[in-house]
This record gives sequence, C-alpha cells and structure tokens, in this order.
Amino acid sequence: MERGDDLRGELRSLVGAMKNHISNGRDSFNPVSRLITKGEPIARREKEKQGNLLETTATSASRVRKASLTLPGVREELGECTRCPLHRTRKNLVFGEGSTRARLVFVGEAPGEEEDNQGRPFVGRAGQLLTKIIDAMGLKREEVYICNILKCRPPGNRNPKEEEITTCEPFLVKQLEAIDPEIICALGTFAAKTLLRTESPISAIRGKFHDYHGRKLMPTYHPAYLLRNPEAKKMVWEDVQKIMKML
Ligand code: URA
Repeated sequence: MERGDDLRGELRSLVGAMKNHISNGRDSFNPVSRLITKGEPIARREKEKQGNLLETTATSASRVRKASLTLPGVREELGECTRCPLHRTRKNLVFGEGSTRARLVFVGEAPGEEEDNQGRPFVGRAGQLLTKIIDAMGLKREEVYICNILKCRPPGNRNPKEEEITTCEPFLVKQLEAIDPEIICALGTFAAKTLLRTESPISAIRGKFHDYHGRKLMPTYHPAYLLRNPEAKKMVWEDVQKIMKML
C-alpha cells in the first residue's frame, strides 16, 4: 500500500471517529461504558415493538442505544483499518451486512477465504448453511445482520489472537449499539466465549439465552461445525426456534 493511501485511510478513520465522538458527546473509544449505562430508557422502536415483544422490564431498563451512533459512522471510523497485523494479509475487510435495523444479529468468528475474497460475511460453505438456517427461520438474510468478531481473515483461518480480538471487538460493540438488536446469536465457541467472557464450552452454554449488556444472546453451534457434524443440526434448530419464539 502507498503511504498516501495509508494517510488517506487514517484520515477517513479519524473523521469517522470524530463524527461519532461529536454526535455522542462522549468518548467513542470506550463503547462498552456507553453500552452498559444503566437506567436509560430505550427510545427506539417503541411503536413497532408494541404487541410483539417479550422483552422484560429489567431488560428494557438496562438496554441502551445511542441513537446518534450509526453503522455508516462506525464503518467510517473503522476505515481501511491497519490497527492490527491482519491488515497485511487480508484482501478485503469484512465489516458485516444486512439490515441496519435488524432485530436479530448473527456474530461469527472471522472471515474465511471466500469472505476475504468477496468482502462479505458468511458467503462460503458455512455461510450457505447459515443462509439456509435463516431461511428456515422464515427470515431473509437482508432482514438480519451478519458480522464477525474479527473483521479480517486470520491467515490460513487460524484462531484469532487475543490482541486481535482486543483491537477489533470495540467495533463489533459499536455495530451492535448502532443496530440495537433484540437478540444476538453467537455462532460457535469462539464468538460465544468472546462475547460472554466465559471459558465454558459451547456445549454447556448453547440453547439458553444469556445477557449481553442488556440484550439477549443465544449461543449455538457454528455452521462450519455443522458441516463436520451434521447430527448437531437438530440442536441448532432447537436453539433458533427459541429465537423465533422470542421474536
Ligand atoms: N466463518 C465465520 O465465522 N465467519 C464468516 O464470515 C465465515 C465463516
């Protein structure tokens, strides 16, 4: 990459960060503190939610959305990210795709080869299975939002490193804050462990709703695991049915 490109990327990212910072009136580099602020009412979607939400009062009270944080703003802030070494080996950054107002967000681990080629999440074999699962839920890919913990492919699809997660996760937190979904579905051990800060295996935590900063989080098996272990599809179907009921 040319030095000029680097500078332009940094500038774009800086402008994005400043826009978010100004519109939030708080430190946009500390997204978690904004996400978990207690006691603020949820202004959003009250009308459209009426009659179809099972959300509890406790959940409502702890969920917070800064209406001014937008997905394009988060994307702009991320820019042509060079914050961790993965930028050197990626072909494309994979930010995420789907509805900016999705009620359900799927979070996977990191882009694979096909995702890296196309710059889109879950478009390889595992992605096709995820698309089928979403269809079977009576939803369309465009109605939900799909993203990953890491935005860039680890070389050879190796496991993400701690420092890569630490660098990248704040942007996922901001994406979730901007979208304000009711339910997050963590796909696989890695996403579930990262989001829930737990060492428990996916087999122990799947199939139950967990709290993620006031949002409901359902861990389930990763579609790539299902390709290797088709017998686990039944459990994933049970898990997503719980999500469908909740929606
Ligand atoms: N696996 C993931 O976790 N994410 C993708 O985007 C593709 C495969």
